Amino acid sequence: MAQAVKSIKGVHDILPESVHTWHHLENHVREVMRGYGYREIRTPILEKSELFHRSIGEVTDIVEKEMYTFEDRNGDYLSLRPENTASCVRAAIQHGMLTNNQVSRIWYLGPMFRRENPQAGRYRQFWQVGAEVYGVAGPYVESELILLSARLWQQLGLQEHVSLQINSLGSTEDRDRYRARLVEYLNDHIDELDEDSKRRLTSNPLRVLDTKNPAMHNVVSQAPVLLDDLSPESSEHFDKLQSALSTCGIGFEINTRLVRGLDYYSHTVFEWVTHGLGAQGTVCAGGRYDGLTEQLGAKPTPGVGWALGMERILELIARSAEPATEPEPEIFMVLGSEQAIVSGLELAEAIRNAEPQWSVTCSCAVSGMKSQFKKADKSRAKVALIIADNELENNTVGVKSLRQKQDQQTVPRDQVVSVLRNEFLTPQ
Ligand code: ATP
Ligand code: MG
Repeated sequence: MAQAVKSIKGVHDILPESVHTWHHLENHVREVMRGYGYREIRTPILEKSELFHRSIGEVTDIVEKEMYTFEDRNGDYLSLRPENTASCVRAAIQHGMLTNNQVSRIWYLGPMFRRENPQAGRYRQFWQVGAEVYGVAGPYVESELILLSARLWQQLGLQEHVSLQINSLGSTEDRDRYRARLVEYLNDHIDELDEDSKRRLTSNPLRVLDTKNPAMHNVVSQAPVLLDDLSPESSEHFDKLQSALSTCGIGFEINTRLVRGLDYYSHTVFEWVTHGLGAQGTVCAGGRYDGLTEQLGAKPTPGVGWALGMERILELIARSAEPATEPEPEIFMVLGSEQAIVSGLELAEAIRNAEPQWSVTCSCAVSGMKSQFKKADKSRAKVALIIADNELENNTVGVKSLRQKQDQQTVPRDQVVSVLRNEFLTPQ
């Protein structure tokens, strides 16, 4: 026999038995997004590589080593999206969502791709939910986005398991001033820097602060702090964010080392972190990116957003919150012969017409009644409907609860739906 083909390393199937946990998260996401007036956008998984080079930045882990890129037949370089903010901004520009000072509140959900070292909480295909707002400057829309995420944690029962860290990266001028101080400090400690950081010292020194190398922890933790040297305007922005969050009852911690891995952030950056997941503790991250629209060829427009890692949130739910239960199917049809199968298919259609929300499974293969009853039990259905020779002859249907020890009832075929409604499947 030929060897079976397996999935790629770091890329996972989501099997039928766990898909309900995804639906649970997705349903809450949809509800919360609607509650804040955000509308869903679906952008392509495949984009021109240039989009990510221009937005995320050349000197980032993602662009340097994590993108899945290939040359198309016409010579274009295409990449599987490693994140979705760039695509959202591209779509917003392309479809005129940023003209005439419009405000757009959008959200998305979908798979992202990064060639990282696969480990718990870090995959090569992973799913993100994100929210983005264009056209609103200032701290209050940042507050709204944080409130939205906090409400989602509350809906999912995670509020006790996540905490918020915030920081300000200031304006471009603030960062230019800071960069000079940082470079001086890092040059003084050049022997302690790893190879990546030495390279970044000249190309993008702020990125050195975002290192994941534990050996760099000491040098990074002693580095000068950007927050100490913000302009009065940037400080005011950050202060207003903090007081809005406090007024709305959102606790937070200022983490002066929080810089975020991508080039496009300015002013507020934030992360929701947890102790419940070991090393991969960031479950949601975001910030303001006012410069991004200009980088992508449109007029400057304020932008702010966040993205959460769905696998990490689902793992946190599994470990710390009420797990979602899979809805049970209503009906399993046990059908005793070929003729009974056809009659069962017809009856199942009539039942679905009457009660479209009921789940009805027909045993479509000719097999013994005993094995079909076993399948009915295994399906976790609440009721079995039985058609065999006797029922065919008398135009009746057997109805049997798969939950209570009760005898099978014989019901005229045209009364099956009302008997099910009244006696077996009454809404709780
Ligand atoms: P990390 O610091 O964990 O590498 P990041 O800064 O690269 O995260 P973002 O690009 O901000 O992550 O993505 C937002 C969220 O998406 C992260 O907070 C995380 O929850 C999730 N995420 C990022 N990369 C992965 C991955 N490879 N596998 C699973 N989830 C991921
Ligand atoms: Mg990363």
